Amino acid sequence: MAEKEKKEKLLEIKHLKKYFKVAHKDVLKAVDDISFDIYKGETFGLVGESGCGKSTTGRTIIRLYEPTSGDVVFAGEAIGGKLSHRAKRDLTSKMQMIFQDPYASLNPRMMVKDIIAEGLNIHHLAKSPKERLQRVFDLLETVGLNREHANRYPHEFSGGQRQRIGIARALAVDPEFIIADEPISALDVSIQAQVVNLLQKLQEEQGLTYLFIAHDLSMVKHISDRVGVMYLGNMVELASSDEVYDHPLHPYTQALLSAIPVADPKVERTRERVILQGEVPSPINPPSGCRFRTRCPFAMDICAKVRPKWHEVEKGHWVACHLHDEGVSKDAASQPAEANNKIAAKK
Ligand code: SF4
Repeated sequence: MAEKEKKEKLLEIKHLKKYFKVAHKDVLKAVDDISFDIYKGETFGLVGESGCGKSTTGRTIIRLYEPTSGDVVFAGEAIGGKLSHRAKRDLTSKMQMIFQDPYASLNPRMMVKDIIAEGLNIHHLAKSPKERLQRVFDLLETVGLNREHANRYPHEFSGGQRQRIGIARALAVDPEFIIADEPISALDVSIQAQVVNLLQKLQEEQGLTYLFIAHDLSMVKHISDRVGVMYLGNMVELASSDEVYDHPLHPYTQALLSAIPVADPKVERTRERVILQGEVPSPINPPSGCRFRTRCPFAMDICAKVRPKWHEVEKGHWVACHLHDEGVSKDAASQPAEANNKIAAKK
């Protein structure tokens, strides 16, 4: 992606929160005050364990969920507040979503041509049935399928083909921005690369911008220009893809990276792993201060009392961790708390 393109913001997310009311007046803070930008033409990878709020972030941006508070600005226009039905519909002509499960997200009773043409119908993008069908044929070819597939039903396709149909459906309205919510997680490893290659090809050809959501840093490594890491509703680190992989600052990012196997058996044998103890706490009753403190090998007293500030430590590299607050001794990083944590060198 050209440097100039990187600088132009397509999406600005400011202090976004999405809370859900659950039983007994409890509130689940799925996304709790996150801020980041996405630049035109880039792929922004958003990663974290299951339940960290990454999918809720995507669904709130595209307004499948109403934001609890915060601002979302898309192409200079505020879209975070109350939107009319029509404004939401207009938004879906610029923003589309690809879902994790390509079978569940396709209506099994509809033929592929009707699934793909749904957006064309809603936004009146075809002047006649003939034009609409031609557009469906073109879209099928764009995603590596062919016109013979138009009259079939979703169950007649493999997982990879179904994901291609989902991509064709998203492309039908000619969007600028696509949220891909774990688009390859449900696919066989052999098919994953094909879908990633297709998404990259489409990005080059059509100048698309992606928010690519995944639970695993290895999945976003090759596709992302920048990566954001979420933990329990908070963004904990954000940087260029190379920076996150080569110089991760947050202990959680370091732990995620250390879990990625290395292809070279010699390196793999001596690879140091950060083993996180315990489960992710409940977002209904998250730990005070830093939400990662109950699993962090470096937790300090301040971590229980004060939520770490989200700040830019180097140009383009953001982190929320007291180890990287100004004036905190870096020696603290070599004094891990004992509680529930250990760093184990894998022999
Ligand atoms: Fe959180 Fe403290 Fe660990 Fe940083 S050192 S990740 S602030 S618990």
